[in-house]
Amino acid sequence: MDRDKWLEGTLWLARKEINRYCTNNCESYCCKNYYITTKDPSLVRLIFGVDESKSLQSVADIDKRLSIEERILEDTYYQIFLDPCPSLKGNLCSIHDNTKRHITCVEYPLFRKGNEIIEVARHCPAISEGKIDKYLTDLMNRGLRIDYLPKTAA
Ligand code: SF4
Ligand code: SF4
Repeated sequence: MDRDKWLEGTLWLARKEINRYCTNNCESYCCKNYYITTKDPSLVRLIFGVDESKSLQSVADIDKRLSIEERILEDTYYQIFLDPCPSLKGNLCSIHDNTKRHITCVEYPLFRKGNEIIEVARHCPAISEGKIDKYLTDLMNRGLRIDYLPKTAA
């Protein structure tokens, strides 16, 4: 198996390993305590479950979890405070199977940085409790560097 496939497969297995722990033990901490940023209005609509009939400004006016910011070059950024995430139902992500989910939601708590580095969300309880240590050891044994991130956006 080539290295790229092996790496993707290992990360997929590691994330899958904690699925049940995320829902039952951690109760989706990361979907309730961080924020995500995007430039893509369709992603914001997906997360808030609103169609084109409503402007995103009107959503932001009544739901403080959405902040719309204009930055240099008139770029618009949307910041969504996961307090909790509007897509969280119970402790489950209601858009989990949607291929357009935010990349951070797909990858958390393991972020691949090329072929050499894996960044790990240090504050994820599954990480601090060693739930996927066997995968991290495997990755290190194959020469990858593991970097632990401080608390950041989900
Ligand atoms: S913080 Fe970690 S253990 Fe908790 S739900 Fe998120 S990925 Fe799962
Ligand atoms: S979209 Fe789903 S995975 Fe992402 S923060 Fe919201 S509930 Fe969590």
